[in-house]
Amino acid sequence: MLSFEAARQRVIERIEPLAERERLAVKGALGRILADDVRAPFDIPPLPNSARDGYALRGADLLGTGSVHLRVVAEVPAGQYCDAEIKTGEAARIFTGAPLPPGADTVVMQEHVQRHDDVVEVPAGVVKAYDNVRPRGEDVETGAVVLARGTFIRPQEMGLLASLGLPSVWVNRRPRVAVISTGNEVVEAGKARGPAQIFDSNRYALIGLLEMMGVEALDVGIIPDERHELRQAFLSASQQTHAILTSGGVSVGAYDLVRDILEEIGVIDFWRVKMRPGGPQAYGRIGPAYFFGLPGNPVSAMVVFLEIVRPALWRLMGRQDWQATRFHARLRESIRKRPGLMEFQRGVLTYAERGWEVTTTGPQGSGILRSMVKGNCLIFLAEEHGDYESGEEVWVEPFPL
Ligand code: AMP
Ligand code: MG
Repeated sequence: MLSFEAARQRVIERIEPLAERERLAVKGALGRILADDVRAPFDIPPLPNSARDGYALRGADLLGTGSVHLRVVAEVPAGQYCDAEIKTGEAARIFTGAPLPPGADTVVMQEHVQRHDDVVEVPAGVVKAYDNVRPRGEDVETGAVVLARGTFIRPQEMGLLASLGLPSVWVNRRPRVAVISTGNEVVEAGKARGPAQIFDSNRYALIGLLEMMGVEALDVGIIPDERHELRQAFLSASQQTHAILTSGGVSVGAYDLVRDILEEIGVIDFWRVKMRPGGPQAYGRIGPAYFFGLPGNPVSAMVVFLEIVRPALWRLMGRQDWQATRFHARLRESIRKRPGLMEFQRGVLTYAERGWEVTTTGPQGSGILRSMVKGNCLIFLAEEHGDYESGEEVWVEPFPL
């Protein structure tokens, strides 16, 4: 049996990032991944400018001990450039965002001065040389890589790209991933359900997880535990997508055919992973398409997706910072556990006076999908660890939003 970390590592390292890219308007690039380094074509801000409404002056004029009287020789609103030099004994009325006129290197806030006609009085001690000035290039310097390829584009990246004057960018293409449920007992919501049948939940949850990542999901539907039909479905999906995600049929029962078929028409790695929920999983390829065979139980399918498939898909998409956020929380209850398997329990994380605290969602059976609904995080219980006591620190990973 493989440890969870080893299994995850092996799945991720077999993925080759997609090379295809497309050019998109920055406005449409939210959640996409940059295909190239983005360098600054100029400094931001392009000129030193005022961080306040007030008066621009020479810092050297403030060196004395008493208050200073300066003659106001210019007015510079934002958006205008004043090329008249501010000489010693002079100041310019200036507003936030306006470039400093030549000679000035300091801004005093208007609240701190007295204005009498064309003279401004700056009391001692209200301002030091260079105060209230945003230096040229403070945010970004010309030529610097401001965003590296592989960066996931959030709203702040959209803003930064636009501030560089770029209306469009190269991003990696979105992968297409087929989603297939397997099982004779599984029926589609909205159809008639026999007494021994269950409605398909995995496809819905998996499609949601894919769409959250910006992956295009191809919904193949439900395929019964029948060799010919599974084979056809896998082959057809492999010709239309970059990856295939199945659930169910990877155990060792007589009707668990996914593994056999993957072996027959592609290449397979089949493992029992030392994790709970999860257990048996199948990975491999059919032609150019990656294959992720997830367990059938709804919680297992989601947990394996979050912990193994999701990072693998981020790699396929070329994302550099794919690690999910994990941090420590204090258990508010004891948990029984036998050493030997890494466990991912569903938890409810809350912030209390002493920091993050977590409780389990209650019964942890891998068919209890409501544990995912009730929870807001996974609690990591280490492979070699036995029972956990209340008050012990554990790692938690919030569910993606
Ligand atoms: P299997 O690995 O195919 O034996 O499935 C394990 C368990 O998960 C069984 O109880 C199945 O009925 C259940 N299961 C399999 N596929 C789905 C699905 N798409 N939606 C909900 N439950 C499923
Ligand atoms: Mg099955």
